[in-house]
Amino acid sequence: MNFKLPELDYKYDELEPHLDALTMEIHHTKHHAAYTNNFNNALKDAGVDNLSAEEIFQNVSKYSKAVRNHGGGYYNHCIFWKNISPNGGGKPKGELLKAIEDSFGSFEKFKEQYSTAAATQFGSGWAWLIKQGDKLLITSTSNQDNPIMDVVDEKERGTILLTIDVWEHAYYLKYQNRRPDFINTFWEIVNWEEVERRFKS
Ligand code: MN
Repeated sequence: MNFKLPELDYKYDELEPHLDALTMEIHHTKHHAAYTNNFNNALKDAGVDNLSAEEIFQNVSKYSKAVRNHGGGYYNHCIFWKNISPNGGGKPKGELLKAIEDSFGSFEKFKEQYSTAAATQFGSGWAWLIKQGDKLLITSTSNQDNPIMDVVDEKERGTILLTIDVWEHAYYLKYQNRRPDFINTFWEIVNWEEVERRFKS
């Protein structure tokens, strides 16, 4: 199987002023493209051509570092592009909102906890909202790891609902060292319809 760099559902400048067009273009055409190519090459080296990314991640500890790092880089960005949108922001609705309130007390408390997880992830990585049975959980991972990989502690594994990329390449041109400003603006572009779709699937 050959994994492909996905097209975005919006133009690079459509997330302005939250994310600038140049950052979006470099992030997609350079960073994400490189992860995708390197993932395909690492799978070729491993002689793997008929597994889904999810199947690979369930046993990622048995593969090379390149599969783990570039596979995560390929996959995490695919989710990230879908969970932001020029028409995003606001609040989730219905069952998802109820699940968030049940798990975190209120939507505001959820945002606060998620923002803290993203801000305090040391170095490069990702913050996540995941589903474990009926419960929602906030976690973070280093580098390109994600909550469906077997290298992540079992207590922090689950179905991915929402993610934010906190690698400096995601925000540095516009926000420099001000990661919290980038996280604040992220809430204005979260695509809750997509998060809800993942929640129900
Ligand atoms: Mn990135």
